[in-house]
Amino acid sequence: SMASPALLMRVVASAYSVAEKAATIVRNVMSAGDLGIVEKAGPNDLQTKADRLVQMSICASLARKFPKVTIIGEEELPTDDVTEDLIEDGHCEEILKKSCPAQYTGIKEEELVIWVDPLDGTKEYTEGLLDHVTVLIGIAYGGKAIAGVINQPYYNYEAGANAVLGRTIWGVLGMGAFGFQLTEAPAGKHIIVTTRSHSSALVNECITALNPDHVIRVGGAGNKIIQLIEGKASAYVFASPGCKKWDTCAPEAILHAVGGKITDIHGNSFQYNKEVKHMNSAGVLATLRNYDYYASRIPNTVKESLVP
Ligand code: AMP
Ligand code: MG
Ligand code: MG
Repeated sequence: SMASPALLMRVVASAYSVAEKAATIVRNVMSAGDLGIVEKAGPNDLQTKADRLVQMSICASLARKFPKVTIIGEEELPTDDVTEDLIEDGHCEEILKKSCPAQYTGIKEEELVIWVDPLDGTKEYTEGLLDHVTVLIGIAYGGKAIAGVINQPYYNYEAGANAVLGRTIWGVLGMGAFGFQLTEAPAGKHIIVTTRSHSSALVNECITALNPDHVIRVGGAGNKIIQLIEGKASAYVFASPGCKKWDTCAPEAILHAVGGKITDIHGNSFQYNKEVKHMNSAGVLATLRNYDYYASRIPNTVKESLVP
């Protein structure tokens, strides 16, 4: 008989379905029309009813199935009194059928840390820039991002009323990433993707120093990694604190699974063990290809302003 699937594959298969349920919640809150916006640190750090419901849905659903896994979500909310309608207990059969990379077959529940951003790109969500929004579930082992799920609830929303809305991208180190078409950015062009709502003088100074052919300003860390793997941009550059571990874990796993690289602005890799500081204080530099080209051109003045 078949051996039961490895824990990692069961977690990824469940995270896939949990992220699809999350996307439904994100769309339902928007169509109901009452976003219930709350300011956290300030007007550029928002939380909506969708952030709250999705956080509870994802964390409670995964905790019920995998009680010994550490789950760290962006929003500070209780998960013990979550209503049953928020629970997703399904999984993606197709993922369960794939074999787990050999180095991960022995992983135990207590060794996994799941980083959850229930809604990445909240500012853009409140402004109707719906395709910037993603749901991020990143899975870490030994301090490394090894698997991730990115759901884009409004993928295809400009394609008309009959288009199927939303998609789920997932990946595991050593297996690859699925749910999208890997595409190279235009050769010989330097297209930088960066923040649209969290800019600063330093963010702009860094971009100017890289002398790009074009700059794309969009919301969301998840969305910006999608720009890289679909060939829309050649580098994601953000010389500022602000991004947190739940913003980068799932995107990092997917980008690394297809041969890309993400670090802080100094070139340090991110750590995802449960004790780690949440803030990525020294910014983000990510590429699918030609990482060294961009890393070698980050000005020292910018580096000196960002302490890891
Ligand atoms: P952005 O590229 O501006 O969409 O940022 C990517 C992620 O980092 C989002 O989850 C943002 O909310 C978060 N982020 C970046 N900068 C800040 C900031 N200054 N304050 C709060 N959150 C931030
Ligand atoms: Mg976020
Ligand atoms: Mg968020």
